[in-house]
Amino acid sequence: MKITFLGTSSGKASLNRYHSSILFSLDKYNLLVDAGDGISRALINNKINFSSIDGILFTHLHPDHFSGLPALIVQMKMMNRNKPLEIFIHKSLVEVVENIIIRSYLLPEKMGFEINCKDFNDDERFNITEKFSVIAKKNSHLRDLEKYQNKYSSLSFYSASFLFESDGKKIIYTSDIGSEEDLLLFSEVVPDLFISEVTHISTLTLLEKIKSLKPNMTYLTHYSDDDVAELSEIMANQSNALKKKIILAADSISFDF
Ligand SMILES: [Zn+2]
Repeated sequence: MKITFLGTSSGKASLNRYHSSILFSLDKYNLLVDAGDGISRALINNKINFSSIDGILFTHLHPDHFSGLPALIVQMKMMNRNKPLEIFIHKSLVEVVENIIIRSYLLPEKMGFEINCKDFNDDERFNITEKFSVIAKKNSHLRDLEKYQNKYSSLSFYSASFLFESDGKKIIYTSDIGSEEDLLLFSEVVPDLFISEVTHISTLTLLEKIKSLKPNMTYLTHYSDDDVAELSEIMANQSNALKKKIILAADSISFDF
């Protein structure tokens, strides 16, 4: 498996870094996890052909994770794509995603390729490929908004953290969280790789939790340019053993796993 951080920024736009998005490549399948504002440029920046993307998994629909989708589909159309595009999305969000695609005038009749929304249920394993599976668990990232559910009854406030598995290797991706408890959603698993966001939790709390979760390797992502100095200083003050196991991800870093 090859993992590429296409972007590591938070919801804050930056001239130098893209919003958080990760590319998982395995079994000749390229899965993009999130496609926020600017994702098409992030792919160009990483010399990744739009047509090589086989599927897109969305963690939630905040603009820094989702709103690059229509523009990315346009790029795929302009490259005369003909292979289908799969979109993996929680079942409560399928309708809104399909609607946004249609309302962006990306009509099936004009596309030249199929866009297949594949819905998943909370806490239920689903397959990306034969050997690559995922479990999503709802986290509390959007919990503050649930008080508006009555007024906006058609909205789904679903946001998830994920456990990816392939060839016995386990990867946890927190995506955007709402509380430190969200870091424990898969606490029965000791992951080979733990990828955590670092904006919606204090760095010191996060480091404490990582010490108890004992992942083999950790990458921190989803931080703004304003956070870099403080994050770097905190990381510099950790033990050498911890520094080897926790890495502040940067845009375009890529590694085989
Ligand atoms: Zn975000």
